[in-house]
Amino acid sequence: MIIVLKAEVTKKQVDHVVTKIKELKLKPVVSKGIERTIIGVIGDEAEVRLQPLEAFPGVEKVMDIQKPYKMVSRESRHQGSTFDLGKDVVIGGKKVVIMAGPCTVESQERIMKLARLMKKSGATVLRGGAFKPRTSPYDFQGLGEIGLKYLAAAKKATGLLIVTEMMDVRDLPLFERYADIIQIGARNMQNYNLLKEVGLSRKPILLKRGMANSIKEFLMAAEYIYSQGNHRVILCERGIRTFETTTRFTLDIGAVPVLKSETHLPVVIDPSHPAGKRAFVPALARAAVAAGADGLIVETHDKPEEAVCDGPQALLPEIFDELMKDLRNIARAIGRDI
Ligand code: PEP
Ligand code: MN
Repeated sequence: MIIVLKAEVTKKQVDHVVTKIKELKLKPVVSKGIERTIIGVIGDEAEVRLQPLEAFPGVEKVMDIQKPYKMVSRESRHQGSTFDLGKDVVIGGKKVVIMAGPCTVESQERIMKLARLMKKSGATVLRGGAFKPRTSPYDFQGLGEIGLKYLAAAKKATGLLIVTEMMDVRDLPLFERYADIIQIGARNMQNYNLLKEVGLSRKPILLKRGMANSIKEFLMAAEYIYSQGNHRVILCERGIRTFETTTRFTLDIGAVPVLKSETHLPVVIDPSHPAGKRAFVPALARAAVAAGADGLIVETHDKPEEAVCDGPQALLPEIFDELMKDLRNIARAIGRDI
């Protein structure tokens, strides 16, 4: 940490800061320049971060050197994390993991049909919400446990892994039983009690970025899970709110290289929610693979006009199949595989 002092700082004020740092059992290194004096703090920054040093007289600003998201940062682990999601599906490695399926589970027949089609096209994970975070309390809220059971039946029939959203810590036992990957939705990215709870679970977690959250906040949320002991955390960029209204959200494609340099965790892109319209989904999906994403989570539906949720952005299975061919070519071009 570096403490930059104001130009007009007095000796008394410098001594006051130095004393405080020593009290914290850290080493202050005062460096007097021609215009400014700075104090370097040597030792664990976590201790100093708890102190309101910027409130000290004579202090202009305090700059962190270490990342506040210690465990998930690249500094703590230079190599990217690679882990098994189950059934030998590995994320973070050479293979790009494709997760696909409807926004929500609607019926056993439909999820079974879609699971078979997704599998045929090369997906390895089936998505589908059983508990839905809807903006309106009057909208369909999901089938609940029945939906999880339908997902489990589709898994049994196809061998696909299941990713599904959990919104309430009280449902964890259900998710431990039926899900292979627990999704934490954008709206819950900063639900810290939920994050801590899934941090105690042994299931991999797909953490979606909040629609109005910075990458730093996203990584701090991941740190909540990771620091509880669950190291299988997947980050998912799903679009953020900007002034632009032609798409549902603005896909922050730049988040892929940024996250890759800031953290060792695998990064997945959801091209469906930022697109909002199915016509825009394939381009975003292709861009995601080209940018180096470790996976995609895509919404699909065999009859989007009948979809209970997010029909306009659902890809028809045949379009998804076409897209998979493009994605394979793009993956190969960058030395990866699908
Ligand atoms: C979803 O995956 O269907 C969903 C609700 O996503 P998000 O949390 O990103 O809005
Ligand atoms: Mn959706």
